[in-house]
Amino acid sequence: MRILITNDDGIHADGLKVLEQIARTLSDDVWVVAPETDQSGVAHALTLSDPLRVRKIADQHYAVRGTPTDCVILAIHKLMPEKPDLVLSGVNRGENLADDVTYSGTVAGAIEGTVFGIPSIALSQAYAYENREGIEWNTARTHAPALMKQLLAQPLPKGTLLNVNFPPIPAENVKGVQFTRQGFRSADQLRIDQRNDGRGFPYYWIGFKHAVEDFVAGTDLHAIEAGYISVTPLQLDLTDYKTLAQLQG
Ligand code: MN
Repeated sequence: MRILITNDDGIHADGLKVLEQIARTLSDDVWVVAPETDQSGVAHALTLSDPLRVRKIADQHYAVRGTPTDCVILAIHKLMPEKPDLVLSGVNRGENLADDVTYSGTVAGAIEGTVFGIPSIALSQAYAYENREGIEWNTARTHAPALMKQLLAQPLPKGTLLNVNFPPIPAENVKGVQFTRQGFRSADQLRIDQRNDGRGFPYYWIGFKHAVEDFVAGTDLHAIEAGYISVTPLQLDLTDYKTLAQLQG
């Protein structure tokens, strides 16, 4: 099996090294093509107005001055001798749950693999916000290899990818795996910090509040909160078929 790995945190990210370790439990033929810099929050962006510079770091390891989507496209069209059999994206520094998936460059890396018809999985390691430096990478590292084998045992439908999140607890405390649906967080979660620059003009940072949420059972949010690994199948087709039928009626 030929595996392509990418991420959105960049070529130097700890989570990318963890993902390479995970991928190497599945195959010796691992290709790493990841952004030069942190691309968190770029979603499925494609670079159209700037050149894409590629830097070869080592055998089968490349950094791209672009987005995760650019990385997957260049890997498949230019850098790899043959198409990969599997695309893994991550392991993201932080969860990608609920509507995070629409902002996430990590999920987009797997979306792009899916566009090419390749089985693709996004992986993210949640962390507790009071413990930003103590990310439990070992939880993803410990549990991902067997989980990936289990998930890849049956083919994914065309246009479907998997979004896997690991809970922010030590590996030995993980309660199991839950197959979940995408939850929902409201825009109330956003917090806009206003600051002033050296000349007194305001500028802004988008951040997140960590309000106590009412987690609905069966969702990705609930599974992570309860100490489970969450696996959510996502589909490229965003059509709301119920509303489509109503509109057509
Ligand atoms: Mn990220």
